[in-house]
Amino acid sequence: MNAPVLNTTAPHKQHLIDPEICIRCNTCEETCPVDAVTHDDNNYVVDPDKCNFCLDCIAPCPTGSIDNWRMVGKPYTVAEQFSWNELPVQEQIELNAAAEKGDGEAEDDEAARLIAQAHQGAGGKSIAPASASKPKINLYNRSKPALATVTGNLRLTAAEADNDVRHIILDFGAQVFPVLEGQSIGIVAPGTDKDGKPHNIRLYSVASPREGEKTGANNLSLTVKREPNGVCSNYLCGLKKGDQVQVTGPFGATFLMPDDPSANIIMICTGTGSAPFRGFTERRRRNMKDAPGRMMLYFGARRPEELPYFGPLQKVPDGLLRKHFAYSRVAGEPKTYVQDRMRQTADEVAVFLKNDRTHVYLCGLKGMESGVDEAFADICRGAGIDWSGLRTQMRAQGRYHVETY
Ligand code: NAP
Repeated sequence: MNAPVLNTTAPHKQHLIDPEICIRCNTCEETCPVDAVTHDDNNYVVDPDKCNFCLDCIAPCPTGSIDNWRMVGKPYTVAEQFSWNELPVQEQIELNAAAEKGDGEAEDDEAARLIAQAHQGAGGKSIAPASASKPKINLYNRSKPALATVTGNLRLTAAEADNDVRHIILDFGAQVFPVLEGQSIGIVAPGTDKDGKPHNIRLYSVASPREGEKTGANNLSLTVKREPNGVCSNYLCGLKKGDQVQVTGPFGATFLMPDDPSANIIMICTGTGSAPFRGFTERRRRNMKDAPGRMMLYFGARRPEELPYFGPLQKVPDGLLRKHFAYSRVAGEPKTYVQDRMRQTADEVAVFLKNDRTHVYLCGLKGMESGVDEAFADICRGAGIDWSGLRTQMRAQGRYHVETY
């Protein structure tokens, strides 16, 4: 696609990257087919003279920071974007111009259409729950990483399991590294790739609550699966106590836990996508034991012995966390995915969805996103709820969150 010729006097959409959320992983720059994405020591930015709105960069971005747009009369230059610490607010004059055009006409703009399409593909725009604590983000980057010490590396899956999934504990000593449940951190594997470039930063969800893996300790935990040929996962899974790790972040400003004890939370995950939900559960267990809000977990794995935290999860009381496991490869049993378990327990899901204090979180394999969405639609159909309308409303209220890779 060639770059569209834009009339610079008429308001039009400009593609921007949110510097507060971007983890500087270089994925967008690698993906962009027209070299519109570039960076300096401070920021990754989109050159308005080169971007052709192909949207190739949207889906691979691990944080969604790439999916930002402003109506502008005169585009922000690359130099201006390099200097930002946060995105500028929408300029009033351009909003007025857009308002004069009318919503319908503005939606007709090609860029607006493409953006709507990107949002649909990305599962919609998320905002943080209204009651969530304010996260700290981007305190450390590749040129100024935090240095963490490994204080634990424990295999989570049974010895006979196919997958080697590990619980890794990182201690930050005297360095300030505040995280909230649901946030992620970046890991910089040492060495270079086959082209001699430093390895890309890899993102992992924090699996512990904000107070630390151990309350009061300045540490956090990760849930990491060793992937065949995975540079970072093999590096992390092979770490020994006392090893030092370069860490960037923290990242993530929307996939956060509601701090309201009356909030109900439905958590749906596969495999290591369970990491943030361990943090959510521990937060409630330690700080809000008598919370009136309920928590429900749908957790998919091949077999019980492949399910991270299987043992400890059995000990979490049902009153704190209602658990539904879905196993896809148990001999003699039908293949069951999380979306199948949701349908089998449709009444429970419907009760949660009818409550306007309910939040939904999905984390794990990209492939489960559509299956779970269809399960919600079926459950709602049976309960007389308009799922499409409810999902839109929940997103707008910071009650529907997706983090899939
Ligand atoms: P996995 O072991 O490969 O799969 C877990 C289960 O999901 C299996 O039972 C699998 O069934 C099932 N599954 C496969 N396709 C599915 C679909 N379309 N719908 C529903 N279930 C499906 O999982 P994993 O390798 O741990 O993957 C976890 C994902 O979470 C990764 O994509 C990872 O990037 C992401 N994640 C990780 C973290 C982290 O901090 N480590 C954080 C957030 C997200 P079958 O294999 O039998 O088909």
